[in-house]
Amino acid sequence: MISIVIPAYNEEENIPLAKAAIFSALKGEPAEIVFVDDGSKDLTWQKICEESGENVRGIRFSRNFGKEAAIRAGLEAASGEAAVVIDCDLQHPPETINEMLKKWREGAKVVAGKKSSRGKEAKSYGLSSKIFNALMSRSTGFDMTGASDFMLLDRQAIDAVLSYKEQGSFFRALAQFVGFSYAEVEYHVAAREHGSGKWTFKKLCAYAAKNIAAFSYLPLYLSVFAGAVASAAGLCLLVLTAAGLDLGSFGGGSAALILLCGLILCALGVIGFYLSRIYDEVKRRPKYIISDDTEKKGFEK
Ligand code: UDP
Ligand code: MG
Repeated sequence: MISIVIPAYNEEENIPLAKAAIFSALKGEPAEIVFVDDGSKDLTWQKICEESGENVRGIRFSRNFGKEAAIRAGLEAASGEAAVVIDCDLQHPPETINEMLKKWREGAKVVAGKKSSRGKEAKSYGLSSKIFNALMSRSTGFDMTGASDFMLLDRQAIDAVLSYKEQGSFFRALAQFVGFSYAEVEYHVAAREHGSGKWTFKKLCAYAAKNIAAFSYLPLYLSVFAGAVASAAGLCLLVLTAAGLDLGSFGGGSAALILLCGLILCALGVIGFYLSRIYDEVKRRPKYIISDDTEKKGFEK
C-alpha cells in the first residue's frame, strides 16, 4: 500500500477533485490519502470530512503552521510502504505518480518530480521562484532547478527524513540529503483551476532565508569575506593618506569608515539571523498542533 500526502490550505474546491483525480490515476493501486488541513479558513476541513473514509484520512491543524509542517504531519501519519507528497491544487499531475511508482519498484528510494515547464503563472512569480531555486541549489549543494515537493519516498527514506528533528526543515532538500538511491521524473506544471497560489514574494523571501540558514553557513562566510575586503580597502586608504596622497573626501577616511560601519552592521545582522535560528531550535516547540483527526473518535466536523 502507498500513502498520498496532501497539504491543503484553503482548498475547499480542490479536495473532492484531488481525491477523485488521484484514485482514478492510480487505477486500482492500493493507496490511502492523508489530507492535512493546514489551518484553512474556508470549508476545507468540512470537505475533507465528507471525503474521509476507509482510504482517506484527514488531519487538521489548530492554525496555519505552513506547508513544511503539513508535509511532516502527513508523513508521520502515512502508513504506506512509500509515500507521495503532492499539492492539492492538481498542479502536480496525478498520472506522474505511476511513473514515480515504476522508478520506486526499479529500486529508487527517493523519486523527485522535476518541473519541465511551468504552468500559467505571473512572470514575477516565475522569476522569484527561479531565483529561489538558484539560491537553494547554491546553499544546499543539490541541484534544485525545477525542484518541488512533489516526491515519492520509500519507507526507509520517510523514516530517515522524520528522524531530522530540527525546526527549520526543508523537505525537498532533506529528501536528497538523507542520501538514498535517487531518481527523477519530469512533469508539466498544470494551471491551478480553483483558489489562488499561497506564496507571495515576501513569504518566498522569508522561506528562502530560513532554508539557507538551515542548510548553509555561506552568508556567514560571505560576511566575513566582505568584512576582510573592506578592512583591506580601509587600510590601503589609510596608508595612502599617510604617504601624503590627496584622496579628496576619502582622505579623511570618512567614506572608508561609513563602508566599514555598513559591513559590520551587515555581518552582525547575519550573525543575529543565525542566532535567531538557534533560538528557534533550542525552544523545541512542536512543529504543529493537531486539533482534529478523522481517525480519532469524537472529532469535530
Ligand atoms: N499549502 C499549505 N500551507 C500553506 C500554504 C500552502 O499546506 O501555508 C499547500 C497548498 O494548499 C497546496 C500546496 O501547499 O496544496 C502548494 O501551495 P500553492 O499552490 O499555493 O503553491 P505553489 O503551487 O505556488 O507552489
Ligand atoms: Mg499550486
